[in-house]
Amino acid sequence: MNYKIPVNLSNYPKESLQKFFDDFDVIFTDCDGVLIKENSVIDSSNLLINKFLENGKKVFMVSNNNQTTRDDLLKKCQNLNFNFTIDNIFTSSSITGMYLKSLNFNKKAYVIGSEELGEELTKFGIEHIGIGRDDMSDTYGEYMMNNYKLYEDVGAVIVGLDKFFNIPKMLKAMNYLKNPEILFLATNVDVRSEFPNLIFPDAGPIVASIEKASYRKATVIGKPSSILFDLLKLKSDKERILMIGDRLSVDIAFGKNSGIKTMLVETGDDKMENVGEILRKIEENEENLIPDYVVKSLGLFL
Ligand SMILES: [Mg+2]
Repeated sequence: MNYKIPVNLSNYPKESLQKFFDDFDVIFTDCDGVLIKENSVIDSSNLLINKFLENGKKVFMVSNNNQTTRDDLLKKCQNLNFNFTIDNIFTSSSITGMYLKSLNFNKKAYVIGSEELGEELTKFGIEHIGIGRDDMSDTYGEYMMNNYKLYEDVGAVIVGLDKFFNIPKMLKAMNYLKNPEILFLATNVDVRSEFPNLIFPDAGPIVASIEKASYRKATVIGKPSSILFDLLKLKSDKERILMIGDRLSVDIAFGKNSGIKTMLVETGDDKMENVGEILRKIEENEENLIPDYVVKSLGLFL
């Protein structure tokens, strides 16, 4: 199998770490667990990002979180002193809008997802239905009579994290998806968010249930898919482009799928031990999860 053991940068001398980024013109980075944790900056990562921007590097922060709009994420970053503009920020919702626009999509989308996903789609001129409550009646018959309606001009089913997800929504999605011409898109397939005393479902389990019900496989738009990378049509040499992230299966896989360099930062979910586990029993396709570099924190580069 074709993979290399990652370079551990954590014990490198300061002088080499300060020069490390000279080799890169474009930096992709995840947000949560890399730059920000809850509402605070991780280890002065804002100073490093601002240095990249001052040095004329292209920086793209890519978040799979679709419970926030691009504008709200920008505001949050600006409040934490990241010198970002809207062009530096992408969410799986905004990438979904960009992707449909690139296909000249001009039908309606049936959306299982958040208000914020709807807002982003609207910004890209994508008409949509389905967001919000769609309550079940006491009997299927009653529901079918009063609330079940499929629109003829629907051309895509888009699925993300939806706090109102239920059987009626699944019923509509699977019936739209009987038509093979209707696109089936997933904003992201992250399985869960982890908090100190709680694990919380993300979009992955919802997407999986609709895949199962419809006998179809969704096209994943957010990380680890390389759709954003392809849409950006960057001119830089891929060797000079780096993806920084804290989740192997999401961020590192996004970098690998895009053919660029990758760095795991150990301030979030995955650590070198997790890379070690994969290396000990590496299975097919798992080369995609092994970063080129591992580092304890972005603060070491300052
Ligand atoms: Mg993260």
